[in-house]
Amino acid sequence: MRLEDRVAVITGAGSGIGKAMTHRFASEGAKVVCVSISRNGIDVADEIGAAAVGVQADVSEEADVRRFIATAEEEFGRIDILVNNAGFGGGLMPLHEQTTENWDRVHGVNLRGVFFCMKYGILSMRESGGGSIVNISSATAVVGWKHHGVYSAAKAGVNQLTKAAALDYADDNIRVNAVCPGTIWTGLVPHARLFPTPPPGTSRVAGIPMDRWGLSDEIASAALFLASDESSYMTGVVMPVDGGYSVGFSGMGAEKTGQSSA
Ligand code: NAP
Repeated sequence: MRLEDRVAVITGAGSGIGKAMTHRFASEGAKVVCVSISRNGIDVADEIGAAAVGVQADVSEEADVRRFIATAEEEFGRIDILVNNAGFGGGLMPLHEQTTENWDRVHGVNLRGVFFCMKYGILSMRESGGGSIVNISSATAVVGWKHHGVYSAAKAGVNQLTKAAALDYADDNIRVNAVCPGTIWTGLVPHARLFPTPPPGTSRVAGIPMDRWGLSDEIASAALFLASDESSYMTGVVMPVDGGYSVGFSGMGAEKTGQSSA
């Protein structure tokens, strides 16, 4: 029970990584406020029962963020943990084909939304004596990804918000860390909407040292560690959880070609 009596707000709790984190945090004793843009978060809260409350809200709307932070305080008294996970890829295409509208949409949720949640989450945590914030960023914020420029720029912004806030609030007993998932089999990935489990040899997996897709539960494990006291001396860390993807290129190793290319 690593989160016994802790209160967690998780955005994007309605599916994929957020849903896995919500169930894991609740099983570790946390009370959870489950936020999502549709009713999915409310459904996930219903699955958990009395230890959870679902809120339908848009993280890119400041008034919505204030509302679910207030809900957490009213329902459970305070906020100990904030996981900023709500996000989406948006249109993936070369920069010259991108539109201003798509930039605003993608940055509105993935970056401005994280700013709003951190701002109001931090105001609440300062009142109650501290807390732990976990931002779900992306491997695309660490290495370049073709056609992901707009999305990865937003996620790179999340990494820098993480580091700046870690310094701003170290004195307030608020730790701020980030997880950078690699390729995780969720509804964010178009193929995952068609196949419940990853088909072997899926092209996006090529070049990932561990040679497989990641699972939402594996991101939940990392987020649990950063949210809990097990990481009590860690702040400002941007932690890849990507099967070794961001370490470097591993697509043509000697074990695959039978000869060295170096
Ligand atoms: P997902 O299954 O599509 O889940 C996204 C969640 O975010 C959903 O619950 C969705 O709500 C919620 N959401 C979207 N826009 C929102 C908004 N404006 N306000 C509130 N909630 C909103 O995708 P996922 O893969 O679990 O993604 C979770 C996070 O991991 C995202 O930040 C994503 O960028 C990041 N990530 C994912 C991968 C990957 O390979 N899957 C890799 C790197 C980073 P509804 O349930 O109501 O639709």
